[in-house]
Amino acid sequence: MAPKPSSSAESVKVVVRCRPLNQKEISDGRQSIVNMNTSKGTVEVKNSKGPATDPPRVFTFDSVYNWDSKQRDLYDETFRDLIQAVLDGFNGTIFAYGQTGTGKTFTMQGVKNDPELRGVIPNSFEHIFQHIARTENQQYLVRASYLEIYMEEIRDLLAKDQTKRLELKERTDTGVYVKDLSSFVTKSIKEIEHVMNVGNQNRSVGSTNMNEQSSRSHAIFIITVECSQTSELVDGGDGENHIRVGKLNLVDLAGSERQAKSGAAGERLKEATKINLSLSALGNVISALVDGKCSHIPYRDSKLTRLLQDSLGGNAKTVMVANIGPADWNYDETITTLRYANRAK
Ligand code: ADP
Ligand code: MG
Repeated sequence: MAPKPSSSAESVKVVVRCRPLNQKEISDGRQSIVNMNTSKGTVEVKNSKGPATDPPRVFTFDSVYNWDSKQRDLYDETFRDLIQAVLDGFNGTIFAYGQTGTGKTFTMQGVKNDPELRGVIPNSFEHIFQHIARTENQQYLVRASYLEIYMEEIRDLLAKDQTKRLELKERTDTGVYVKDLSSFVTKSIKEIEHVMNVGNQNRSVGSTNMNEQSSRSHAIFIITVECSQTSELVDGGDGENHIRVGKLNLVDLAGSERQAKSGAAGERLKEATKINLSLSALGNVISALVDGKCSHIPYRDSKLTRLLQDSLGGNAKTVMVANIGPADWNYDETITTLRYANRAK
């Protein structure tokens, strides 16, 4: 694993993952311009546009993963501690950021029915339920919700009625929440997998063109883990039940590519503006948290950051995976992604 630069705030970790060249890029004769140095934690990008003598751009992160990285290794090195913290009663959020086609969904979901290619979401199911099975004298309650934010509108991916839009509300005692969001108690890996599959299906059915919309919306899978133990078992027990609650947000973000290319108009332009807005709001929140000196964290600037407010900052842990492609044609987007990720650390 790569060294952690000391400048990073402990609670926010930023890693970069580069996917392999794909078949089309290979047959088109595309060059790889990205060089991942896993021991130094650096990404070097050759400037494919400038003169050959131009030095590469170099960025440093908490860790970097090359095209041949294993899902399991990412889990063990980068995600496991965060899921463990949720089991211990803290909140945590994992984001996959990047241009469409760079591996966000591959990182979060992975490939169905291939255990080696399972992403962080199914791997976290296994972790959570194995932990519960091994733990004695404690009762756990695991609940799952799944929602999508598209153009600043929230859709419950587990609701019967997929046309309904939900509202964000705020209460002084419990903070920000999504009113009427469904939540299912799950007692096994199988049950929570079923919940995820139903949501994934609704995600694609709800849109006219699956790739189109799913690349323009944020999908958030939320797992709440409640743990209670009778305090006779802990020091100075008073016989009462003590409950701790941890919340895990697993976020497959909208594609970060510049949406507003010239020519976009009407609905398309409105959509583009909103996607750019929520991703830049997220960037601003994370960089304010990492900076540590800001007294004002701009959570209120988007639905996404408002919704995640109690899981970003404070005692919560955050991991951002910035996904990039290796090919020359992606140069501009790759640099933009690395700059965004760099700001977050
Ligand atoms: P995104 O969700 O960012 O749009 P996807 O996760 O759908 O991108 O990835 C695009 C394609 O690239 C998929 O076919 C996916 O399986 C493949 N892919 C992405 N990352 C990797 C990787 N690290 N190793 C192998 N294949 C990958
Ligand atoms: Mg995707």
